[in-house]
Amino acid sequence: MREYKFIFKNIWKASPAYIGVNVLNVVLQYISFAVSLLFYKVIVDLFIYGQPEMEKVIVGLVVFYALKIVCESYNNWTVNIYNSLQQIKIREYVSSLIYHKCKHIDIECYEGAEFYDEYARAIEDGPGRLQDTANLVSSFLSALLKIGTVIGLFFSLGYIFIIVAVIYCVQSWLTLKLTNRLFYRGYLLDTPINRRADYINGIFRGYQYVKELKLYRAYDFFARRFADIKDQLKLLKKKRVADLLKILFTSNLAGSCLKAFVNIYVIYKIVQGEYTVGDFTLVFASVIALSESVSGIINTLPNLKNNKKIIGSLIRLLNQEGRSYGNATLPEKEQLEIDIEDVSFAYPNEKERNVLSHISLQIHEGEKIAIVGENGSGKSTFLKLLLGLYEPTEGKMAIGGKEYCEYDREEWQKLFGVVFQDYLIYQVSIAQNILFKENLDEEDEKLVWEALEFSGLDSRVRSLDKGINSVLLREFSEEGVFLSGGEYQRLAIARAYARKARWIVFDEPTSALDPIAADDVMGKLYRLGEQKTVICVSHRLTTTSSSDRILVFDKGRIVECGNHRELMDRQGLYYQMFMKQARYSQ
Ligand code: ADP
Repeated sequence: MREYKFIFKNIWKASPAYIGVNVLNVVLQYISFAVSLLFYKVIVDLFIYGQPEMEKVIVGLVVFYALKIVCESYNNWTVNIYNSLQQIKIREYVSSLIYHKCKHIDIECYEGAEFYDEYARAIEDGPGRLQDTANLVSSFLSALLKIGTVIGLFFSLGYIFIIVAVIYCVQSWLTLKLTNRLFYRGYLLDTPINRRADYINGIFRGYQYVKELKLYRAYDFFARRFADIKDQLKLLKKKRVADLLKILFTSNLAGSCLKAFVNIYVIYKIVQGEYTVGDFTLVFASVIALSESVSGIINTLPNLKNNKKIIGSLIRLLNQEGRSYGNATLPEKEQLEIDIEDVSFAYPNEKERNVLSHISLQIHEGEKIAIVGENGSGKSTFLKLLLGLYEPTEGKMAIGGKEYCEYDREEWQKLFGVVFQDYLIYQVSIAQNILFKENLDEEDEKLVWEALEFSGLDSRVRSLDKGINSVLLREFSEEGVFLSGGEYQRLAIARAYARKARWIVFDEPTSALDPIAADDVMGKLYRLGEQKTVICVSHRLTTTSSSDRILVFDKGRIVECGNHRELMDRQGLYYQMFMKQARYSQ
């Protein structure tokens, strides 16, 4: 029931008149049905057994067809015009609920297949299923009303029809149960396979994959995988179709036998003089209405059940609470220090393996800190903890004397401007890539240019016809612009700069830049001023040697800490790494 409450509550919020308009449609359709059912019996009996007054008959016919036209027109308007216009509103409303919720879903949720099986479908299909379910419910109610009316008529005609109707409903219900079970099992089996197929479709149409697909000739590999997946689906469907055919054949046979019995029985009763010819048309129309309504319900229920499952996932998604945090705000002016005390961390999907162990550290505001270490030593993970994307498994992390969990999470994250190793570029304008804002005012444009100057992308952007309003890439615009790898990285750096955050966190910010450009960006980073704290992961040790402090990570621990001189004198891991790189560059 909670799914239906959710559906109607949200449809009501998105489109208040929707339910009223559709309920009126159900009522009018019912009136049209009930009047039609009786009208033909009355007319036939009048002409065969009575003395019809032509004037009254003509008035009756005009009223009857006028009513039918009104009901039909209202139905057409509701289904084809009104509902399809409201569809946009309802979908948009539900999608906005989902997008706002996604902000609070913890990152670890995205790291398991369960999330994709459960929620990805809710995100993709959910918004459309609300209206779909409402329409199915109205078809269901219409069908129930018709069945009720037909059963009422059968009561007045004789108990034999009730028995027939009950048998018909029971056999239809059995058919429904069997087909439902078949489809539901199929749905569960198909979902993970369909997701794999969607993933490969995404690879074939995604710009980011094109180069590797071509160079590694991966087209054939993925095409084969796609074909295998489709074969698996075909096999599953084949088996299902064979089972479905058996069920439907048995059901049709039973239904036809019952209809034949009813027809023969009524003809026999007319010959006996117990029924009128009008009763025959009434029973005939009722049997048709009964079988249509029951098969309508049969078709409706599996879809309702399927929708209920997707809406259930949608509700669970919308009810999902991220990690709960307090509502403390960051002090504006005060010096902010980060205290990290004996922090250890294991990824939630691999709880038994500590990726970081016993990290203790204090970072003062304004410090320029470099983090170095071999691949897999835990540098990026450390940054992710700092950014509040994950929680430490053990230990304490505090800013300005308050633990991270006391802060509002967005407030904590506001502190940081970040460039990730795997930064992303979006197919919107350069300015929108930097500020994520729709309409820019003069101040915004000034900030965008300042950020571009900082990252060294300004002259390239000035050379473009549309400057900062140039759209990137060409999936949506023929005028889209392609930049080089290094230029995209500069754009990501400009994005971090434009946040005007007090702490700047960079994970390999210069990997796509040539050595001179890298020195330039790092030099600018380190000259950002007293108030800006810079924490930077880099493999290029020459670019990090001017940091105030260098943290050397090894197997999830900080094994050395000091400035370049101190670490070189110590002749430990940093010294070895530095000498190796120096030899290599010579
Ligand atoms: P670095 O940045 O030093 O190269 P990372 O912090 O990225 O290292 O990775 C440290 C370890 O954590 C690696 O062994 C990696 O396999 C593991 N790891 C990284 N991300 C995840 C994740 N989302 N789930 C599980 N393990 C992860």
